[in-house]
Amino acid sequence: MINCALCGASDSQVVQLRDIFLWRSCQQQWLCAECESHFQWIGETHCSTCGRLTHQLKETLCADCCRWLENRQWQPHNYSLVTYNEGFKRWLIQLKGVGDIRVASYFSPQLQKIYQQYREAIWVPIPSSSHNLQTRGFNQTTVILAEAKIPYQELLIYPTETQKQALRTRQERLSRANPFEWNPNIVHQHIEEPIVLFDDVYTTGMTIYQAEQVLKQHQINVVQSITLAR
Ligand SMILES: [Zn+2]
Ligand SMILES: [Zn+2]
Repeated sequence: MINCALCGASDSQVVQLRDIFLWRSCQQQWLCAECESHFQWIGETHCSTCGRLTHQLKETLCADCCRWLENRQWQPHNYSLVTYNEGFKRWLIQLKGVGDIRVASYFSPQLQKIYQQYREAIWVPIPSSSHNLQTRGFNQTTVILAEAKIPYQELLIYPTETQKQALRTRQERLSRANPFEWNPNIVHQHIEEPIVLFDDVYTTGMTIYQAEQVLKQHQINVVQSITLAR
């Protein structure tokens, strides 16, 4: 007997088949067909810059991206796997809220595929605030990458206000509104590899924008951001 990690439904027939061939992945992350059907995968038609699902041609910019361009002269280079809908939120709550890291590997096959295109790049996970890190005990972005067997470097940190003050005396002053800082444990030498930012969700684009700003201050350009959901 095996239970869906999201809704708890069991399916003994699936076990009989999977038991034999896929015992390991079964134990880690089995989701029932019903829960899987709630994910909306983003296919060919999406906003050309932020990856949001559209029903138009790829070349079109969505309203969010038009605003970014107009207000900050910024364009994201984001790719997402699924739409940020109820089905995805449920998965995310299971991971972040419940702390059930079994579900962290759910998107591993798709991420591993993308990784093959960006093997040369340095993958940088978006850090969690220290408060979230403390309550949850893990940073979901690093857990998801580790599960997908994608190497990463934590170039960015999300310090507390006190840590931030201390860092500011040593580092270039960043905008007060930006929660991220360069990781002081990483000696900054000239980084030539392209950078891929990784986060669980792209909502307004602000997180990716702010992370990019910090890296830019270190003469590092982000070529791509990958998020599970948009
Ligand atoms: Zn289920
Ligand atoms: Zn867009």
